[in-house]
Amino acid sequence: MTAPARYLRTVLVPIHQLREFPGNAKRGDIPLILDSLRHNGQYRGIVGREVTDDPLLTVLAGNHTMKALVLHGPGDCGHPVKVRGKERPCGVCSNDPGWELAARVEVVECDDDTARKINLVDNRSSEKGSYDRDALAELLSYADDDLGGTGYTDADVQLLIAPPPSLEELADSYGDPEEDDFWPVLKFRVAPEIRDAFYGLTINCADPNDDAVRFRYLLDRARNATEPAA
Ligand SMILES: [Zn+2]
Repeated sequence: MTAPARYLRTVLVPIHQLREFPGNAKRGDIPLILDSLRHNGQYRGIVGREVTDDPLLTVLAGNHTMKALVLHGPGDCGHPVKVRGKERPCGVCSNDPGWELAARVEVVECDDDTARKINLVDNRSSEKGSYDRDALAELLSYADDDLGGTGYTDADVQLLIAPPPSLEELADSYGDPEEDDFWPVLKFRVAPEIRDAFYGLTINCADPNDDAVRFRYLLDRARNATEPAA
């Protein structure tokens, strides 16, 4: 019989006492998480599973936070953060040379089944959600030019404020798509003498301003040349 996970305690644990969840399928953006940790600190506990007689805790949720801390390393990382033009110590190590590589962990106990489910759903739930774009734009507007630690770049914000036009809007501006809009595009690099030969051999085509017309003309010439003479 399986039971839900049971919360035991919250502790500060040296990283070497944590073990990555075996087979964790999510590949997180570790530098982004480290940037957040430096700006915001570890605002959320890693969830670690305790098993009797096992000296290590297995990380069910927060595997990438653990990896970001490993990437940070012990001691002073030498990376203070800039917030609204002012420098402030790193939210992980406080730029203290004596800082020990450790993470705050919520320790739980559970069976194997529940451990797998927690690991899966924790990864899944973060990708299944969606955004209220207006609310997101509003929140980001408070960040002003100070996006460090938000996980957003200027380009992200620009896309949000002025998203690229939809297909319908494009059709309004440029008319409905033509059939040949969806044709394949050939593009390749050639030596100058090949280009000259191409233009030379196709000079008599119907529309010399259109390389596609030149190309069809060249194909016709090639076909005629290879057909046995009548
Ligand atoms: Zn640091």
